[in-house]
Amino acid sequence: LSTWANVPAGPPDPILGLTVAFKADKDPRKISVGVGAYRDDHGKPYVLSSVKKAESLVASTNPDKEYLDITGLPEFNKNVALLAYGADCSPLKAGTIAVTQTLSGTGALRVGGAFMQRFFPTGKVIYLPSPSWGNHTPIFRDSGLEVRQYRYFDKKTAGLDFAGLKEDIQNAPAGAIVLLHACAHNPTGVDPTPAQWKEISDLVKEKKLFPFFDMAYQGFASGNTTKDAFAVRYFVEQGHQVALCQSFAKNMGLYGERVGAFSLVTADPEEKARVESQLKIIIRPMYSNPPLHGARIVNAILSDKGLYKEWESEIEVMANRIINMRDRLYDLLTSTHNTPGEWGHIKSQIGMFSFTGLTPSQTKALVEKAHIYMTADGRISMAGLNSGNIDYFAESVSKAVR
Ligand code: PLP
Repeated sequence: LSTWANVPAGPPDPILGLTVAFKADKDPRKISVGVGAYRDDHGKPYVLSSVKKAESLVASTNPDKEYLDITGLPEFNKNVALLAYGADCSPLKAGTIAVTQTLSGTGALRVGGAFMQRFFPTGKVIYLPSPSWGNHTPIFRDSGLEVRQYRYFDKKTAGLDFAGLKEDIQNAPAGAIVLLHACAHNPTGVDPTPAQWKEISDLVKEKKLFPFFDMAYQGFASGNTTKDAFAVRYFVEQGHQVALCQSFAKNMGLYGERVGAFSLVTADPEEKARVESQLKIIIRPMYSNPPLHGARIVNAILSDKGLYKEWESEIEVMANRIINMRDRLYDLLTSTHNTPGEWGHIKSQIGMFSFTGLTPSQTKALVEKAHIYMTADGRISMAGLNSGNIDYFAESVSKAVR
């Protein structure tokens, strides 16, 4: 008998499984709107010009391949905190934010989850929006936290269920952790307005909850990194000691480089040093220290005025292309095809994703009959659409809902 005879087969990852099926499909009309990775208007992966220049710049210094510190590249940590929290942030100016480089956003969430499990003083319960990114639940469960949900998406309006959100946060036990998508909520594309963020901040404070931000899309929502950091910066201004996960997968297109950061706002430099010492103790047995290359690229962009400016304009181009696709899709579904139903949410939703409202049987029909690959929840990555395939996409969706 094999040692592994009792290992049960697990289900394939619902999103990455789609990519496999998409690649195997020979139909020329096939469209992938499953995975949240940016594509240019020819449907091709896009390496940012600022990234290419940063890579040359890094290479020109002929850098060594020594190990990084356990918490990564120090200048990277400094610059990414500045990007997220802003130059006016008091804790940042006071040097009280503990930052560590991580294996992209997922690694930040996992290190953060482990830190909360080990040191968060008031219970081990984390509330996630319903729905949330599919990986959040297993990440926090594997970190040893109890995962619960708060209402977020209102199917009827395809918008925010703000009353439900407030009621559920109101009823959370004091001392629970609340996970908040900083911007461009995945999978719904629905974000609170600034006024709603202010109410959420008050509620979190009043109920003595702990805000844990996941910011995987800074810049991708509005095209502007400052605008997209509003929620995080507002919470910090209001005196919340936030936790923050950052990813450079989407906003710099560095998906496979696995570069991100986890940070915690602490009370003073002495506390920060203690927190950092424990982050090191968590990371060292997990993966010892993070990879070099991506951090060098990000740091080169963030520390060079010219590259920074070019990067900002490239984010704007990506965000605007997605916004254009939203407008086009809306017009095609409504004016061109007279598709039954309400489609205004396609335009009002924010960021890479749209929660279309398509049912599991409709999405199944799209995958099987139209070669359009998307998840059963009806989420589409707007970045998968382009001027060459959007007509076929809209026509197929219109057929699927009749
Ligand atoms: N958080 C959210 C909400 C995401 O959508 C993603 C990626 O899809 C991530 C975190 C982490 O991605 P990565 O680990 O590639 O940075």
